[in-house]
Amino acid sequence: MKILVINCGSSSIKYKFFKIKKRLDEEILNSGIIEHIGEKDSLIKNHYIGLKIILERINIPIDGVGHRVVHGGEEFKKPVIITERVIRAIKNYSRFAPLHNPKNLAGILAVKRLLPQVKQVAVFDTAFHQTIPQYAYMYGLPYRYYESYGIRRYGFHGTSHAYVVAEAARLLKKPLSKLKLISCHLGNGCSITAVKYGKSIDTSMGFTPLEGLVMGTRCGDIDPALIPYIMQKEKISFLQIDEILNKESGLKGISGLSNDMRIIFKESKKGNFLAKLAIDVFIYRIKKYISAYIGILKGADAVIFTAGIGQNQPEIVRMICKDLFLHLNKRPKILIIPTDEELMIARQTYELLKKS
Ligand code: ADP
Repeated sequence: MKILVINCGSSSIKYKFFKIKKRLDEEILNSGIIEHIGEKDSLIKNHYIGLKIILERINIPIDGVGHRVVHGGEEFKKPVIITERVIRAIKNYSRFAPLHNPKNLAGILAVKRLLPQVKQVAVFDTAFHQTIPQYAYMYGLPYRYYESYGIRRYGFHGTSHAYVVAEAARLLKKPLSKLKLISCHLGNGCSITAVKYGKSIDTSMGFTPLEGLVMGTRCGDIDPALIPYIMQKEKISFLQIDEILNKESGLKGISGLSNDMRIIFKESKKGNFLAKLAIDVFIYRIKKYISAYIGILKGADAVIFTAGIGQNQPEIVRMICKDLFLHLNKRPKILIIPTDEELMIARQTYELLKKS
């Protein structure tokens, strides 16, 4: 089966084209990225034109298309074949992911026009976390906010966490249903998930990807009272504070240098105080989450590190794990596993289309 995997961002489309003979027998036939979509002076005015270019590049029949979709609300607990109802639902959940879902949808609608006979599958970033129990996904806010506005923890990076825990089970030669795992996705965006017997039971990102760890440019957990306080002190609007918390904080905000851990690490080695502080804050927050999840899981078989920092910067992983497990009778294994969200989407698309 030939499966095209599409990840539509605000101004880009990443794609990978797979030939899948059977489960775990996959080959990449083509991959790439179309950038600058809709930007001033760009010839690629929209996602439809971008997808047309991708299909010309591939130029062989496609059996199915798998899409990364960021938000599936509480409705989508698994990947689904895209129907008119699913399209309406993805549009509806744009209220939770206004920057992402409309772009994901643009890709789906473009494929629908260009390849009307081909089945499409939506794989949601939030779906893997739908097993989190209610006491872990509720905030300490009036209950009616949950009922009226859907305010709760949703979690993100689900496809990546699901992929690396499956790979961990393979490496450990044990079924996922018998393992307690902690998955640390440390890229520009960072999140940690506790996975008990194959199911996500808690994750650090929340209603949006802003909560939890200190990230490249996102602040992660802060005292919510700081938001009106900073707004008042700096005389800034809701849009401005949102921009600061999402784009000017985290590693970039503390170090004053960059959101790129490679640069910060190099500067810290040269003795830059704020670069070292940014790394210390980043690592301390990760240690806190891992320790909390070891607590709720009552031990862990392995702690997995993945994404840009997790899979490429062993010094950071070493600093996180140093002395962290000394108090445990059974210390978890440390696994570094490269994530592959596109392959996970291809596998899930293949399984669904084979069934249908
Ligand atoms: P995104 O979350 O945007 O997909 P990445 O997963 O690539 O981004 O993560 C970006 C972070 O990972 C940066 O802090 C960067 O320093 C680090 N990183 C990415 N690639 C490498 C690499 N090859 N070697 C070392 N660090 C890397």
